[in-house]
Amino acid sequence: MAKKRLVKKTDKKRTLVMFSGGIDSTAALWHVLHNPDQYGEVMVHHIHIKNLEARWRAEAMAIKQILEYMKKHVDHPFSYTESTIALPHFGKKFIYDVEIISFISGYMTSRDDSITKVVIAATATDFELGVTESVMRAKRVHNAFHPEEEDHSARIKEYPQKDLFKHEVYKTIPEDLAILTWSCRTPHYADGKPIECGRCKTCKKETSTIKRKKAPGKRSYL
Ligand SMILES: [Zn+2]
Repeated sequence: MAKKRLVKKTDKKRTLVMFSGGIDSTAALWHVLHNPDQYGEVMVHHIHIKNLEARWRAEAMAIKQILEYMKKHVDHPFSYTESTIALPHFGKKFIYDVEIISFISGYMTSRDDSITKVVIAATATDFELGVTESVMRAKRVHNAFHPEEEDHSARIKEYPQKDLFKHEVYKTIPEDLAILTWSCRTPHYADGKPIECGRCKTCKKETSTIKRKKAPGKRSYL
């Protein structure tokens, strides 16, 4: 009985894509959907992270448009789920996305053992920053759900863009898709529409390394 199940498990590929609505995870999802042999059945998961950055509303609008775009332009189907987490902050100290993502990835993979891969959007630009305390904590959080294995996180997580720098990631997706993504960490809102701050880490990174056609603050979701 157990043997039969094992055969079935190795035959079927099922990939969970942690999707934020930013350029990196959009490119990761685009890559996964275009390589069905490698990734099999695709599950997309978005986490609405409600923290002091107020980014979640802009992301929620972006992901809607991005997923509609994917459905229209990619043949490979995917399922979509989401979770919401609202957190207090302590001055400027708050939990990092990587920790929350790992909490959810640990949880989902521990309850659904048909998931054979978890795709995380981290680029060479991110890896260059090195392993931070929050990255190490994230790994331990994921692995807390898998006490039977020494490092489940390392085995199941895949980073398809680990060798690409941010500006190279942009080139891997169509321009009309890139423009739908949201990256600003601290947007403000006018008439319900998000506006990029132009000052946060990701806004600066975008303007310094990427020549995008849209100007900061000009994005709208019509
Ligand atoms: Zn910004």
